[in-house]
Amino acid sequence: MTVEHENFARKRRQTREVRIGKVPVGGESPVCLQSMTSTYTHDIDATVAQITRLAAAGCDVVRVAVPDRKDTAALPEIIRQSPIPVIADVHFRYQRALEAVAAGAHKIRLNPGNIKDRRQVNEVIRACRDAGIPIRVGVNEGSVVERQDRAVRASEQEQLARGRDHNLVQLMIRKLEEYIRIFEENDFADVVLAAKSPDPVVVIEAYRAISQRFDYPLHLGVTHAGPPETGRVRSIAALATLLAEGIGDTIRISYAADPIHEVEDGKELLCSLKLRCRTEPELIACPTCGRIEVDLFKLVTEVRHKLATIRAPIKVAVMGCVVNGPGEAEGADVAVFAGKGRGVIYVQGEQVRTVTEAEMLDALYEEAVAFAERVKRGEARLSGDEVAINPPKAKPRP
Ligand code: SF4
Repeated sequence: MTVEHENFARKRRQTREVRIGKVPVGGESPVCLQSMTSTYTHDIDATVAQITRLAAAGCDVVRVAVPDRKDTAALPEIIRQSPIPVIADVHFRYQRALEAVAAGAHKIRLNPGNIKDRRQVNEVIRACRDAGIPIRVGVNEGSVVERQDRAVRASEQEQLARGRDHNLVQLMIRKLEEYIRIFEENDFADVVLAAKSPDPVVVIEAYRAISQRFDYPLHLGVTHAGPPETGRVRSIAALATLLAEGIGDTIRISYAADPIHEVEDGKELLCSLKLRCRTEPELIACPTCGRIEVDLFKLVTEVRHKLATIRAPIKVAVMGCVVNGPGEAEGADVAVFAGKGRGVIYVQGEQVRTVTEAEMLDALYEEAVAFAERVKRGEARLSGDEVAINPPKAKPRP
């Protein structure tokens, strides 16, 4: 990691620390990556199978919905089998929260606005304090406008009509302050805050404002972002902006898709911002241009699949030519420069092989595996962006 990278990672806003099971959130802890299961929680086998996949992909903690008694009844077994801490997501029925706490949930997610009776919220807070677990307190754009009280609802909608984005942020902050007051009156500070919206600009403004008012850890997310194809940019635009400003202690990217995509993209975001160390290969590939002489898109897809078997953070470059490729691939541990039916392969700046186009995929993979093994044995070091690559020599080494 360069000095700039270390400074960037250190620039994070200081918050209190809470613990979700064995995972610390806030304080000096790394940004925690969350996802949520899409199974019926009462289907224990399906839920545990999905949690296990998410954990293997890099998910730190997982949230499960508990709308019914049968869901909280399934929690003890899910928690017993889960490799990562489990958060119970509660809406409307405070009994579900109490049952989840009794079942051993590592955290409760609660929107106090959905539970009208203050005594019931107090009861949940007491139960969480006794169990020593945190509560995530959230407002969502979709639930921030009052639904039950007509007069309050009319006044809040009128306020939004006067200037939606700004007033929506103000409304979200006001509700959050109301909720936090309940927790502070109960002398309960084991809290994580969230204020989500489908609009990335609202999310950025809301979290900036919240981070200036409170020192509770923040859970970032763009809600209802849609499928990965459309939700990816929307989510990353907001989360990357905030994380780059040092705001955010835990994140969830939410998609209308298999939650594995949430974890894959969240992990890539954190690795790209140097907020998480890579444990797997990083692939660099040129975008191609009019100089291309091989089917590079096909090659890149195949290389990506093959590299998934390697468990070392080596940097691999797949470049379309030797004109600009060497400069663009600087820092790569293993690189191939393709062109005129052949590929020239480099390992840490040394030209090691020239192969035919048909041999390129397997040869690159062999070199990548061999290099990763040398790193594991301590016989080689990762480039750390310091490898210079000169254009291929006229006579490649045999
Ligand atoms: S590496 Fe070569 S083919 Fe690829 S974008 Fe750069 S100049 Fe074009």
